[in-house]
Amino acid sequence: MKKRVTLTFPKRAIHQPITYRLAKDFNVAANIIRAQVAPNQIGKLVVELSGDIDQLEEAISWLEDHDIGVSQANREILIDEDSCVHCGLCTGVCPTRALTLAPDTFKLNFARSRCIVCEQCIPTCPVQAISTNL
Ligand code: SF4
Ligand code: SF4
Repeated sequence: MKKRVTLTFPKRAIHQPITYRLAKDFNVAANIIRAQVAPNQIGKLVVELSGDIDQLEEAISWLEDHDIGVSQANREILIDEDSCVHCGLCTGVCPTRALTLAPDTFKLNFARSRCIVCEQCIPTCPVQAISTNL
């Protein structure tokens, strides 16, 4: 199964080879969707973990035992349809084509099922029409 989680690293854990340990010790693949890690700061990684359900849970416990915060909340993208001006800028950064402009109407179309909540679209919107529920 697959699980999207946000990992928060304290300073001392930033240099741990997380993806290597998850693969080697738990047979869990970690696909990094978004990373915000700067030297000497708290780091955040949005990752999609794939593996056997029991091993996924063991991997998450291992992360927590190593002081890495694991958030599994169901974060979702919200589009404020009243603010959106259908400029299409957000569609250019969406890696999964969850955001597209309809070819006939040139209106923004959001396919929620394709969205991996990478949040890359949020800063591109000139009218701040994109946000998250959490
Ligand atoms: S959060 Fe990522 S996947 Fe979802 S609509 Fe925005 S850019 Fe696309
Ligand atoms: S960038 Fe903002 S205004 Fe432009 S289409 Fe996307 S949501 Fe709408």
